[in-house]
Amino acid sequence: MAVQETGGMNDGLSKSRFCEGVRCPKMLWMEKYAEDRGREIDNSLIFENGHRVGALAQPWYGDFVEVEFDRDNKPKMIAETEELLREGHVNICEASFGYDGLFCRVDVLHRNDDGSFDMIEVKSSTRNKEIYLWDIAFQYYVLKRAGIDVRRAYLMYINKEYERRGELDTAGFFTLEDCTERAASLRGEVEERIDGLRDILLSEEEPDIAPGRQCFDPYECAFRDYCNGTEGADAADPNDIRYAGDADTEAARSFAERLSHPLAFLRIEICMYPIPPFDGLTPYRQIPFMYTLLIEREDGGTEIREFMPEIEEGAQPDPRRALAESLCEDIPEDACVITCARGSEAYDRNVEARAIGKLAWTFPDLRRRLLSIKDRCVDLADAFDGAGSYYAPGPAGEGKEVESAFIYMHEKPADKRDEIKDMWTAYGRRNVETLHAVTESLPRL
Ligand code: SF4
Repeated sequence: MAVQETGGMNDGLSKSRFCEGVRCPKMLWMEKYAEDRGREIDNSLIFENGHRVGALAQPWYGDFVEVEFDRDNKPKMIAETEELLREGHVNICEASFGYDGLFCRVDVLHRNDDGSFDMIEVKSSTRNKEIYLWDIAFQYYVLKRAGIDVRRAYLMYINKEYERRGELDTAGFFTLEDCTERAASLRGEVEERIDGLRDILLSEEEPDIAPGRQCFDPYECAFRDYCNGTEGADAADPNDIRYAGDADTEAARSFAERLSHPLAFLRIEICMYPIPPFDGLTPYRQIPFMYTLLIEREDGGTEIREFMPEIEEGAQPDPRRALAESLCEDIPEDACVITCARGSEAYDRNVEARAIGKLAWTFPDLRRRLLSIKDRCVDLADAFDGAGSYYAPGPAGEGKEVESAFIYMHEKPADKRDEIKDMWTAYGRRNVETLHAVTESLPRL
């Protein structure tokens, strides 16, 4: 068995670069010829979640050995894999293979009794996607070319119906899909794509590719501003209140008509765990974990109230009960609750109302009060006829930082947790103050 036939691994085409190229050849080209036109994108939460889901899948076949990652030394990873195979290990995670400048790492490689191998590619998604098939097809191709007798090639992803009850049941949590036939049938196309991507990388001419869904799925591309022609657009005055859409419309006036004091401007922060941390949760179920509230009374006086979860080091927090109780106490019974759309899509609106509705069904003793708050929620996007959204300017990626800080906050030391709470306070206040100011600026009858 030849794990690697030729050298040059560090200059070749890895599985992740191949998948990037399939997603958008221009992305690959930009990384080589115009890397400085990209901006910093914080995809760390996506990668962290992926890492944790991957770790959960590693013992799928039982005890395993793992090939240590060494970014700058692919031949070393390949050699280590070769050694582990020679030693007869049954399960090898991150098994590394190369062929003719191509390189891939297999999440889980399992040796069958007849000497053949099964491979699993693990994804933290809840569904199969076309790009995953290319990912598997590339690995299948490289392993076959490297002389590995692959019997089955599986895609493993999260079963979105799984509901946690007690200890996490990995058999119920994961869905295993056999992709062998499809991976094998793509062999010719994989070869063509490899040749095409190599040609693109050899050419100094920028590929002509229009922006589309590939720019943000499965994660945001660093070159979006460049490709959309909006480079430098974020450099506006950070004290500006910005919103899209035309506020001088009948929609804005009728929205303003619906408002009556006291006004409660509410922003709830929400996170999602791919691996449900508590009983009764399904993967990626939305969990509200903090809120900021600005109350404006009839006389124009305002006050801020906020909820921050108590988080101790090492203890996975479930803030839902405390947050629900606090909401019931903080929001006046007769308040009109104004919430904030996250963007201009339909699913970006009424986020707070949906979160409060779910809390109401989770805590029956608070249901009446919570449903009353939910029924009084209005979304500011209604004032823009559904076409607009506002946002409170702040450092790029701060929203993601707020969410990811909560999810793994109990693993951080006390001083870091205090720092995060300060960030949350500033972020939440800036949001409700902007919500307040935009509402104030609406035309009234
Ligand atoms: S922004 Fe879109 S079109 Fe531009 S390189 Fe990235 S994925 Fe390709």
